[in-house]
Amino acid sequence: MNGLMMDWPLVIPQILRRAAQFFPEKAIVSRWGDGTRHRMTYADLEGRVHRLMNALRGLGIQPGDRVATCAWNHHRHLELYFAVPSLGAVLHTINFRLSHEQLRYIINHAQDRLIFVDRSVAGTLAALETDLPAVEKFIVMDDRGPEPAALPRSTMDYEELLAGASERAEFPPLREEMAAGLCYTSATTGDPKGVLYSHRSTFLHAMAGCMVDGGAMSEREVALPAVPMFHVNAWGMPYSCTMTGATQVFPGSGVIGQPLAELLEAERVTCAAGVPTIWTLLYQHLKEKRYDLSRLHTILVGGSAASRALMENYARDFGIRVLHAWGMTETSPIGTMSRLKRALEDSPEERQLEARLKQGIPVVGVEAKLLGEQGEDLPWDGEHVGELAVRGPWIASSYYNNPQAGAAFTADGWFRTGDMASIDRLGYVKLTDRKKDLIKRKGEWISSVDMENAVQGHPGVLEAAVVARPDEVCDEVAAVLVVTRDDPNHPVAAQEILDLLSRKFAKWQLPLPEDIHFVAALPKTGVGKIDKKVLRKMLAQPPAN
Ligand code: ADP
Repeated sequence: MNGLMMDWPLVIPQILRRAAQFFPEKAIVSRWGDGTRHRMTYADLEGRVHRLMNALRGLGIQPGDRVATCAWNHHRHLELYFAVPSLGAVLHTINFRLSHEQLRYIINHAQDRLIFVDRSVAGTLAALETDLPAVEKFIVMDDRGPEPAALPRSTMDYEELLAGASERAEFPPLREEMAAGLCYTSATTGDPKGVLYSHRSTFLHAMAGCMVDGGAMSEREVALPAVPMFHVNAWGMPYSCTMTGATQVFPGSGVIGQPLAELLEAERVTCAAGVPTIWTLLYQHLKEKRYDLSRLHTILVGGSAASRALMENYARDFGIRVLHAWGMTETSPIGTMSRLKRALEDSPEERQLEARLKQGIPVVGVEAKLLGEQGEDLPWDGEHVGELAVRGPWIASSYYNNPQAGAAFTADGWFRTGDMASIDRLGYVKLTDRKKDLIKRKGEWISSVDMENAVQGHPGVLEAAVVARPDEVCDEVAAVLVVTRDDPNHPVAAQEILDLLSRKFAKWQLPLPEDIHFVAALPKTGVGKIDKKVLRKMLAQPPAN
């Protein structure tokens, strides 16, 4: 039909061009492994992206090729976020904390031609090098971290590469449906599966990150992604920030506790994002030492459930809002966000907290439904629990080069998330569990997420995990693992945990006293989530005599 709007492709280079044009002087700060900080501007970023594009061309990179990163959060990684897709190539961000076997699998599956690697983590790749036939070169980025045990053989230095490249790059024409990014799920079962993001999906997802009822990124924010840039594109923050011209503060290598507090204070950060464990550990530290975090208004928490204690502690002690969100690799990742609806504004605080503790309502662009055991639609009454299914422009429609792994995609165009949830009348999604983490006692479900939340309500508890322990009579029972704060004012006894749980759970759901374990630490996955697979294995083993 004539008279229509322009056919203007939603492609990644536009995001950078806007930032350089309107916010050339705004800062991008990176913290290196030795604690020093590097500062540059969006104008600098654009210049370096041009050079990097020319350098990549010089190395023979063509549209469609995969270029990988094994890197922490810093400006060089951001440069790659723009240069690689701007050439029409695909940026494959690798979680280098995966096992060697998984790394070998995903690098070979993706057929990465180049790997840009932080010096401090290059040792891992040196050990695998001979098993990665498609990789032509390793480009080393000096992150001023600990010396690696070894470097791969065919390496180049990132800064030398840039210095040798010419200044202005030609931008090839791009279509918005072209592939731009690739992430593998961390695969708790089977081989990791690749999720291929397009320019269009990345652009639209970044815009959702800027909507007031979405991530609310804006030019006025100073944003710190504590979530690694290899964990679903740091939840889209680098693109949302650049899109709006927000100041970006990159914390470098897995910074937690004191250095994170120092960075938040020194750079006057206004919003940050990461998995709950980071903020639990930070809170512990903030209680011990005073920092001026008066600028910090919001911490976006996702990846695992935000606990009531986390939300209450930050609000009460520091006036910081914990904003709960849900998503996964297959959903780019933002799926839902838990902002308070107007209808709840005058409700008692407890009712508000109850809503904000849920994972939230689907953001614009994402549709959701609940599936029963036969695939039927379940009602949104806050009671029925079913598998959450979603669809939208930034939800995967299949896995990359993996037709066998299609079971999650329904014939009528929905993605089955594998997460069990209820949805209430206001549309708030509440996750009860991952399907594989559910505890089934004599055929009835127990929500591990609810029980973890309750245990974390004890002031002496630092972290808690609830997993299924196999049982001959009941099939499965709940087992609780607790890490205490080691605070003499708040000792924790097993009986107190049981008392706390008995206020919220039916008798049959309660763990046995011997299923409450006090441990020194909980095993974590590469992205900092509690690794329940390891815990289940541990508990399934007969106790040593
Ligand atoms: P993995 O955890 O397998 O590395 P993802 O990062 O894609 O990969 O994890 C997505 C999963 O994390 C979701 O399917 C869900 O089970 C869990 N998750 C994400 N956000 C939340 C949340 N806010 N509350 C509870 N679980 C969450």
